[in-house]
Amino acid sequence: MTQVAASAETRQLFIGNESVKPHSGSYYTSINPATEEPIAEIAAADVHDTDQAVKAAQAALGSKEWGRMDASDRGRIIWKIADLLEAHLEEMATLETIDNGKPIFESQYVDIPMCINVLRYFAGWADKVQGDTIPVRGPHFVYTRREPVGVIGAITPWNFPLILSMWKIAPALATGCTVVHKPAALTSLTALRFAELCAEAGLPAGVLNVVPGKGSVVGQALVEHPGVDKIAFTGSTEVGKGIMRDAADSLKRVSLELGGKSPNIIFADADLDAATRGVFNGIFSGKGEVCAAGSRLFVARAIHDQLMEGLIARAERAQPADPMHPKTRMGAIVSKQQQGTVLGYIDKGKADGARLAAGGLAVKVNDRGYFIQPTIFDDVRNDMTIAQEEIFGPVLSVIPFDDSDDVVAMANDTQYGLAAAVWTRDITRAHNVAAQIKAGTVWINMVNFYDAAAPFGGYKQSGFGRELGKKALEGYTENKTVWANLKG
Ligand code: NAP
Ligand code: MG
Repeated sequence: MTQVAASAETRQLFIGNESVKPHSGSYYTSINPATEEPIAEIAAADVHDTDQAVKAAQAALGSKEWGRMDASDRGRIIWKIADLLEAHLEEMATLETIDNGKPIFESQYVDIPMCINVLRYFAGWADKVQGDTIPVRGPHFVYTRREPVGVIGAITPWNFPLILSMWKIAPALATGCTVVHKPAALTSLTALRFAELCAEAGLPAGVLNVVPGKGSVVGQALVEHPGVDKIAFTGSTEVGKGIMRDAADSLKRVSLELGGKSPNIIFADADLDAATRGVFNGIFSGKGEVCAAGSRLFVARAIHDQLMEGLIARAERAQPADPMHPKTRMGAIVSKQQQGTVLGYIDKGKADGARLAAGGLAVKVNDRGYFIQPTIFDDVRNDMTIAQEEIFGPVLSVIPFDDSDDVVAMANDTQYGLAAAVWTRDITRAHNVAAQIKAGTVWINMVNFYDAAAPFGGYKQSGFGRELGKKALEGYTENKTVWANLKG
């Protein structure tokens, strides 16, 4: 963290609908990973700033402007935020791409559109969150109310910066909560701009506050703050475990969306062309920096050679290129450090005896940037490090199988349980495998599809709690049971 003078590219904290200078005077530099150039100086919040943001969120929670607003009016504001985001789609997509390195094709047609859909989906829920009337024994009238959990501390990672923020902010706003958001330090720009758009749409002051900075400082401060009622976290399993431990002191509610090592299972009777496309996109879209990436490929030995041929041909065509070019499909790894981590796993795969079938190298585009070729390891064993640890980069581990009973056991032999895909023309087998896989999402003859209405989250060490869909509303509301005596 360095001291810098304010400049046009300087971004401040966003608290109570205002740009606020950081208490410490510290700023950090955000880098475009494709060009290695600085793109912004961003205010680094500290414990004091975090406390100010939490106080603003607490005040908004009980305010006339938000706390006592009609639910349908909350829905209208969320809908208006979606419209504004749509009007700024190109600006936001460009920000996401220069900050994260993902292809503009993805930012423009996947990331920002999904954010808009999620906002509209939850805008519709705002006035439909309701309780029950419950028949109990005795002359009593019992009903339940669904009340906002309160102040949400949202902590998000760098791979889908705005999407994973929206999965938390949209249901929080729909249920009447308020939010203090700590985006990933590597990618804070869209979160800050989004908060400005929310203010422009009429979201009252203090409802959404953004405090960029280090996880170990700002994230930790949110987890420890007694004024935060719930932490909604997406990130690594390791950090998630620490959050769960530390949140125990104040018994905060916690939802954790963590890592994955998702299996993609291809049976011999699968539509091979569709499976090849699916497997390829399932691991290499988003540069493999995708929690649900299909990073383990289990392929029936009978079709192994043919499938590999198709995958290798595609990998050779999909070389990294300038993320801002509309035809680019493989962007830059988010940071030099992450590039080093991924290269370390490639070395480990080679050392453990897996066979490098495609890629494997760091490359530059126009002499710059942190790129890695789409990389495929063949003859991997499921107990190798590259098949067990989350690489979070463009590296596929291919594991041939002979027996379809064994393959489900192998697919489940991982600490993670985020997602899986199965490819077969046999519908009975497809649904049986879907039932046996221990994962929060299973795709059949498709992979990596998401929708605002379809719940998403993990089994096992991929976390708990569900985002998206009606399920997500449970995580942002408390149930209150009210008893009234009807005895005359
Ligand atoms: P990370 O290191 O766990 O960081 C995630 C967020 O937590 C960042 O904002 C980070 O801040 C913050 N943080 C770090 N230490 C913290 C602490 N002690 N207390 C509170 N917050 C803290 O994960 P990442 O490397 O950014 O993201 C990659 C990981 O996210 C992968 O493992 C991936 O599987 C997972 N992921 C999961 C899903 C899902 O839905 N299940 C989706 C996407 C990603 P700073 O980094 O800014 O310091
Ligand atoms: Mg950046």
